Amino acid sequence: MAGRTGTGHWSVASRCSRNNASPTSAGGRPTRPPAFLETPLTSVARQHEEVPRNHTGETRYLSGRDRIFQSDLARLSLAGLRDRGPAGRAQEVSSIEAAIRLQRLFDPEILRGSVSIIPVVNLPALYSYTEYTCPVDGKNINFTFPGDPNGTFSEALCHALVTEWAGDADCYIDLHGGDLRETVSKFVMFQRTGDTAGDTFRRSLAECFDADLVVGFAPPHMDAPGRPPTAFARLGRNAIMSEGGANGIVDEDSVAYHVGGVLNVARKLGMIDGPLSPPKRAQVLCHDYIWTPAPVDGLFYSEIKPFDAVREGDAIGEFRSLFGERLATLRAPATGYVLWRMTQPILREGAAVLAIAVPAAEPR
Ligand SMILES: [Zn+2]
Repeated sequence: MAGRTGTGHWSVASRCSRNNASPTSAGGRPTRPPAFLETPLTSVARQHEEVPRNHTGETRYLSGRDRIFQSDLARLSLAGLRDRGPAGRAQEVSSIEAAIRLQRLFDPEILRGSVSIIPVVNLPALYSYTEYTCPVDGKNINFTFPGDPNGTFSEALCHALVTEWAGDADCYIDLHGGDLRETVSKFVMFQRTGDTAGDTFRRSLAECFDADLVVGFAPPHMDAPGRPPTAFARLGRNAIMSEGGANGIVDEDSVAYHVGGVLNVARKLGMIDGPLSPPKRAQVLCHDYIWTPAPVDGLFYSEIKPFDAVREGDAIGEFRSLFGERLATLRAPATGYVLWRMTQPILREGAAVLAIAVPAAEPR
């Protein structure tokens, strides 16, 4: 799996997987990447329309081999009928746009292995503008992995994604772009299991993304219902999850972040040639992710921004009534960095307001 060269299968949903293809596929042509794969990250997104199409000239959802292309289209249809899945929540548009652009960024003639892309997993939510949950069964797909073949729509979907669609994937990548009422730092998540070699490798996959924060969940998190990184780690497999975007707006910086991270993973897995693009952001390693609930019903007022540093106990915002009266002060639950915050101020008691990432003790 990890560390092999010359083969690969890969999923983006994003999932990234590698399978067996020769380093000189497609008629023995040399495996030199086209110029667009060596383009600086910030301009990759703008150049996607100039990317050469495959030899048939058709638009593809993934590259690699036709057989894989077709089977994955079938899976995409199946997912659309039964449930959609994991990755991108349906309104997290910067990550969806990244998945759309990535469809044209892998040239099958130079790719070793295969890449499968599902632009939107939670399709029932797409035109209903549903946040967080799947409208078919009300479940949050993000926390439903690894799913259950005999469960609800979302549970069956997650199970199919893990065992069928990405069943042979070396790496599953779940792209998130900030939901309709939130702004998120550029962060990436992986799961630590306690196996040093595996943890090191999963962290290195996460660090393919040029993130502010790299959150490696502690091993006890394996007992929690799961995000894809946790569910895959429990199976001894690899999944990472990226976040970057805000408020239902496609922003080029976030799109380039997701696109660049996925291309770096492909380089790391030996699926395309060229050195990894080095990070420009801090990639602060964190081991904990703390959700902060609203203490009362009310309107939230705060200047706090993603990736702001906070100390435990700091006043970081307040709740006011519809008459402008102060109802409660929100204090930082821990010392760390703001992963994300809600931007629409109207919040119910108990609803998540923001989350703090707690830096790992170990120095980078
Ligand atoms: Zn998200």
